[in-house]
Amino acid sequence: MTPPSLDSTQLYPPEPPRAPPTTRSARLLGCPQPLAAAYDVALLDLDGVLYLGPDPVPTAADALAAARGLGMRLAYVTNNASRSPAQVAERLCNQGVPAQAADVVTSAQAAARVLHERLPPGAAVLVVGTDALRREVAAVGLSVVGSADPQPAAVVQGYDPATTYAALAEATVAVRRGALWVGSNADPTVPSPRGLLPGNGALIAVVATGSGRQPVIAGKPEVALHAESVDRTGAQHPLVVGDRLDTDIRGAVRGGSASLLVLTGVTGPAELLSAHPVERPDYLARDLTGLLAAHLAVEPTRAGAGWRVECGGWEALAEDGVLSLRRSGSAQERPDGSVDALRVVCVAAWAAADAGAPVHRVELDATGAQALSGLGAPAFPGNLG
Ligand SMILES: [Mg+2]
Repeated sequence: MTPPSLDSTQLYPPEPPRAPPTTRSARLLGCPQPLAAAYDVALLDLDGVLYLGPDPVPTAADALAAARGLGMRLAYVTNNASRSPAQVAERLCNQGVPAQAADVVTSAQAAARVLHERLPPGAAVLVVGTDALRREVAAVGLSVVGSADPQPAAVVQGYDPATTYAALAEATVAVRRGALWVGSNADPTVPSPRGLLPGNGALIAVVATGSGRQPVIAGKPEVALHAESVDRTGAQHPLVVGDRLDTDIRGAVRGGSASLLVLTGVTGPAELLSAHPVERPDYLARDLTGLLAAHLAVEPTRAGAGWRVECGGWEALAEDGVLSLRRSGSAQERPDGSVDALRVVCVAAWAAADAGAPVHRVELDATGAQALSGLGAPAFPGNLG
């Protein structure tokens, strides 16, 4: 017997058209006071910002305590749907960062928000994920089921290292029947001491292959998790702080919030130099101590057929596809001047790219090479291909 087919348009309203992404021009913002005094809430990514796998980032706990002292509230925003806010808060406390469950926002909560917005109260939702995700779905008044047989209105899928073939098969059956399908996040991998392992995006791909459909994603860089974070914190002027361009920074740009990229995680100078306009941060810092500093505006000026950028005693010139960096005689080098060196080369490269003349080669003298290698870029490429 053919199973009854559900008309998905009767279950939930169509997805609204996505507004075109906001982009960032070639510049870094100035802020005359410490960021922690200028923005009311920091929406902090975790891995690569507060810790690196099992290890705390050395400066993180002290910098966050000082940021709090300047009046900034702190919220911790994670794409990982497998752990509850209380579990995340406990880990932060264990590494010297005082946090409560209410300070943590997870993609499981954002996925529950998407379901809540689109389903009638009490609707059945097939959950493929951990108890943390099940609890969030139940908390918004929906009914958690574990099989496709009750004809669930939706399937929600979050990372769970114990996911079985049977669970993925149930999800596939429900999705093929027309259920709304929401993924907590689409990260293809998760870090582990043995290297990268399949993440929720990989598990979603199993169901996508089996069903021929694609899910709605709640986590970064999509807007649901950002909106959930702003709502839960009541932030008026949030500052997103992250280590990844394609999730943290892209999500901030889409959500209309300012962003700070820290260099303690996965993004290095070479990737930053070629950042797409929708993935450019507003501020740049070595680590979370960047929250405690004022920031100089960094903007390009025309120089012949190219672009010149100066900041803190460094000067970058992008012309004819070649980017050069040198010490400038017009200003003293500031403390941690390596970051100023990176700021000027980034803005020069972005300006050249936006003008249709992207940089394909970087020329550094010994001083410039030393400055940038101090930012964890020993293999900073001379030729960007
Ligand atoms: Mg991260």
